[in-house]
Amino acid sequence: MKTHDKFPYPSRLAKLRTCLAEKKLEALLVSFLPNVHYLTGFSGSAGLVLISRDASLLFTDSRYTLQAHEEVKGSRVVIAKGDSLAAAAKRVPKEASARIGFESQAVSYQAHQKLRSLLPGKRLVAVSGLVELLRMEKEEDEIDRIRKASEVASRALLETLPLLRPGIREREVAAEIEYRMRLHGADRPSFETIVAFGDHAALPHAHPGERRLRPKECILIDLGAILGGYASDMTRTVFLGEPSRQASQMYQAVLEALKEAEAVIRVGVAGGRVDAAARRVLKRHGYGRYFTHSTGHGVGREVHELPRLAPKQNQLLPERAVVTVEPGVYIPGYGGVRIEDMVVVRKDGIEVLTPTSKELLVL
Ligand code: ZN
Ligand code: ZN
Repeated sequence: MKTHDKFPYPSRLAKLRTCLAEKKLEALLVSFLPNVHYLTGFSGSAGLVLISRDASLLFTDSRYTLQAHEEVKGSRVVIAKGDSLAAAAKRVPKEASARIGFESQAVSYQAHQKLRSLLPGKRLVAVSGLVELLRMEKEEDEIDRIRKASEVASRALLETLPLLRPGIREREVAAEIEYRMRLHGADRPSFETIVAFGDHAALPHAHPGERRLRPKECILIDLGAILGGYASDMTRTVFLGEPSRQASQMYQAVLEALKEAEAVIRVGVAGGRVDAAARRVLKRHGYGRYFTHSTGHGVGREVHELPRLAPKQNQLLPERAVVTVEPGVYIPGYGGVRIEDMVVVRKDGIEVLTPTSKELLVL
């Protein structure tokens, strides 16, 4: 496959059709928007695709007529007069015994009931994660976009670090970072930027608030940008003034865990093995019970997608998957350290997409 095709949609649809044939489905109704975007190019917020063995139809409404015709390649655009679901139901394959797949994670109970009444006699088959599995293995063009999103986030972080002085509030730092990401081309942050000072950093998903920075505190910043439809995700922990011995030991342990995990990653390795590598290091340093989340996740159209680098994950990493590696240690009442990189899975190792240094930084 040519990975730099201008329009990747026909080859994505062809791969999906192979999966449909394996699952003996005559058609698949795709309604999860990141998947709709991936398969057709349509980035509007109301649309669904019906993919059968010989056609791919994108259904949306008249608010998106222009946008759909501009963006969609490789599928036919149908502007539904009323409800898109009803319009799609009219176009499903006619065979009485047809098996029609729907995305169980994206179809509400109500929508499912409606589909049932619109398609009497047809077999509705709940399908989960089919397009998500295809999305794991990126094309080089997608990796380029993720790399750019990563560069924009790194740049915003580096520009913000000199503003970290005693007295600044977490929310000010978060606002600066988000402003700078937009300034440098991001469409929006990939998630609410996390800025956590001192004991707040012990909460892996802290919300940036009124807390003011005090000397000798750790500063945990987790940020990401969306650019060209693709997300980035990175974390750095820095210190205002020389950290305590315990804090710098925590930092070195987390950094070692990250390096060990990265050393394990290559095509064909199970996500669980990468997670175990990071966990082993933190356990050896006595921090095992303070590492309370999984080691990483895929990144692409969504900031959290497949594959997962978590305990007992047997799924093997495919070539060109983009994953985060983000070990952390969180000690309640004291503080936390997390370091998060994004890497591309290559045949014999990784390519790091996060350009920012990981060495301990004292401001
Ligand atoms: Zn993150
Ligand atoms: Zn992450």
